[in-house]
Amino acid sequence: MATAVKIKSIEKITHDVLHIVAQKPEGLQYHTGQAVDVSINKAGWEKELRPFTFTSLPTDDQIEFIIKTYPSHNGVTNQLLSLKVGDELLIGDVFGDIAYKGEGVFIAGGAGVTPFIAILKQLEKEKKIGNNKLLFANKTRADIINKEKLFSILGKNFINILSDEKIDGFENGFISAGLIQKHSGENSFYYLCGPPPMMAAMEKQLTSLGIKNEYIIKEAF
Ligand SMILES: Cc1cc2nc3c(=O)[nH]c(=O)nc-3n(C[C@H](O)[C@H](O)[C@H](O)COP(=O)(O)OP(=O)(O)OC[C@H]3O[C@@H](n4cnc5c(N)ncnc54)[C@H](O)[C@@H]3O)c2cc1C
Repeated sequence: MATAVKIKSIEKITHDVLHIVAQKPEGLQYHTGQAVDVSINKAGWEKELRPFTFTSLPTDDQIEFIIKTYPSHNGVTNQLLSLKVGDELLIGDVFGDIAYKGEGVFIAGGAGVTPFIAILKQLEKEKKIGNNKLLFANKTRADIINKEKLFSILGKNFINILSDEKIDGFENGFISAGLIQKHSGENSFYYLCGPPPMMAAMEKQLTSLGIKNEYIIKEAF
């Protein structure tokens, strides 16, 4: 059964992305990288479940989400844009295929970075960030979510790729097999999360590099 929780803060962190902090349901358990079914506790929206990934850590005493909104149609994320502190979310079942297995290359497209934000924050907390790398694909610099935080965790191992802008210090275009290879170490794991077309392209690149399935951890958004 879903639990109603109050929103403690809600703010825009890019032109179309919200950061929401809410009360943690009593007894809620999850691991970093997992998502949960969320709906809005408002007439007509209670049954509209959508999956969102925790960007908080399991030990935090509140839960957090980072959510890309689609104001062009009247879905759940558009409704979220009208919520205020004190409004309620319904928190349902926890699930998700992404979990940290060891050092590697995280490859994210847009909001697909959310499970990696949680995992990287956890590794930072445990002082185990090591040589993990993040290849983060976006259209423009303005789309990059949590840029400062990710840079502070990863430094030079935070690699941004912009498809629609050419800016010094940023890779331009799409993530290529060559770029993945350049950032791969021996026995690297590959963590993929993003929209389905990007996921398909990345899996093709990994196959072309001879990466075995057991080294690929993925979830499509
Ligand atoms: C396991 C998992 C975890 C996820 N975690 C996150 C997360 O942490 N953060 C996050 O931002 N997202 C996350 N997502 C994606 C998120 O669940 C979807 O973006 C969300 O459900 C969209 O809900 P909606 O009601 O606004 O759109 P829906 O109405 O459900 O539409 C779904 C998609 O269709 C497209 N679409 C549909 N109709 C239109 C239209 N008229 N015009 C334009 N586009 C349209 C949009 O691209 C949209 O993404 C996750 C997905 C999965 C599977």
